[in-house]
Amino acid sequence: SETPSEEFDVIVVGGGPAGSTVASAVALRGHRVLLLDQQTFPRYQIGESLLPSTVHGVCRILGVEDEVARAGFKLKRGGTFRWGRNRDPWQFSFALSPRLSDPTSFAYQVERNRFDAILLDNARRVGVDVREGCRVSDVVADEERVRGVRWTGPEGGSREARARYVVDASGNTSRIHTHVGGKRTYSDFFRNIAVFGYVAGGRRLPKPNDGNIFCATFDEGWIWYIPLRDELTSVGAVVSREHAAAVQGDPTAAWRRLIDSCPEIRDLVDGAPQAGEAPYDEVRVRKDWSYWKTRLWRPGMVLVGDAACFVDPVLSSGVHLATYGSLLAARAINSTLDGTLDEARCFGEFEARYRHEYGLFYEFLMSFYDLHQDERSYFWKARKVTNVGATELESFVELVGGLASGDTALAAPAEAGARLTAASSDLDRVVGRLPDSDGHRNPLYESAAFRQTFHEGSVLQERGLLGGPLEEEAPLRPGGLVTSEDGLGWAVTAP
Ligand code: FAD
Repeated sequence: SETPSEEFDVIVVGGGPAGSTVASAVALRGHRVLLLDQQTFPRYQIGESLLPSTVHGVCRILGVEDEVARAGFKLKRGGTFRWGRNRDPWQFSFALSPRLSDPTSFAYQVERNRFDAILLDNARRVGVDVREGCRVSDVVADEERVRGVRWTGPEGGSREARARYVVDASGNTSRIHTHVGGKRTYSDFFRNIAVFGYVAGGRRLPKPNDGNIFCATFDEGWIWYIPLRDELTSVGAVVSREHAAAVQGDPTAAWRRLIDSCPEIRDLVDGAPQAGEAPYDEVRVRKDWSYWKTRLWRPGMVLVGDAACFVDPVLSSGVHLATYGSLLAARAINSTLDGTLDEARCFGEFEARYRHEYGLFYEFLMSFYDLHQDERSYFWKARKVTNVGATELESFVELVGGLASGDTALAAPAEAGARLTAASSDLDRVVGRLPDSDGHRNPLYESAAFRQTFHEGSVLQERGLLGGPLEEEAPLRPGGLVTSEDGLGWAVTAP
């Protein structure tokens, strides 16, 4: 017989960056949250290069910014690319964004086992009931709503827990995301395979760019080079699916061969041996196809992080989308639980903003993979896609800094509310520029709900460019909601 069901306000499935973020942001408003993860932390995960929006935006709101700063992760001031028609490397610095003031114009390169554990411990500290080694097998639902989950703890035996909301933050291997909007839709365009490992040592770019991510293209794809510590570097090759068989046979041999065939990376690795310490002593292979869902919520359930969507990793957007999407979900949950706003309206705002942010990266990345262009053309494209930034280079930096949404909570406190340079894109112009016939069209822009979204962007941008400080955040779409003062909920615009 079953143990009686426990009751919570919210149940979060998964304790990665997405799960910790949504759980903490809901607990900070005083709600009762249960978080279940099937693994025991610290646990390995890929996705080591972060963006400023996570470090100075989400982590600050969660109260964990200082602790992350004290962890001694490698400072990432920007990125360096040997990418596109230009044979010479080019680079960008986060400091080029006017929304990032001097002390916040950086992110970190993190060992995810440590970073994710810091966020999860912080969730505990703010009151989340975190249980590790607990696997969720299914959701409990009736026709009206999702009502809870079934799970199994380390001691075995199926149990049930109930809540007003179930959040699926269980990552790319989620077993329960199908309860919202059915199957995933896979991109025709981004269907790559990644093979990644670690070297003990390796050269560094000259200061102050020694913490930059370095990405270089070569015949078979591209390779990332991410400095994690003086004596530890993450090196991963992303190749198209035609190379899958070669990579899966003997991953370590394939990884070495790929590094050797990319001169810029081979020079940086400079003969450094493969790392010997766990969990870095293994070469791993992962399919990194991009995917999304036609819906991101239904009554009683919401999807965040890789459970919801994934886009090609070259711009390091994964943890940003996971943590920002989770913050948006927490705002919807908090405002519904408080009874201040209607569920559909709160979650509609979550979904529209999340899709928009995902869509920006997706659309930009389609052009970024056109290697016949040079960096100027990429910057131009960033400006076209985002409609933010005073210059094309600035637009690019806002996008790859995770700041293109214009969400004031993601910028440094000194800037938040004081200046609004960022605004969302004009949908019709974005859609108009996308080729219809070549099968690469961004399907997110095709949803009816999304079509009504964001055509206020240009108005907002004009207000921003005129330089007038906005006393209040304006909605990002007609009839849309704005962020509450604490960043943890939605509010209706002042009449
Ligand atoms: P995860 O971090 O995967 O966490 C999900 C958690 O759910 C896990 O802890 C798991 O144990 C738990 N779980 C799963 N199933 C269950 C269950 N049934 N019950 C209970 N718990 C469960 N992102 C970046 O930001 N920067 C990068 O440089 C970067 N590089 C990448 C390179 C590659 C090759 C790939 C594939 C991805 C990369 N990413 C990168 C993306 C990044 O890995 C993900 O976007 C990010 O880890 C998503 O976080 P999450 O919290 O959604 O999921």
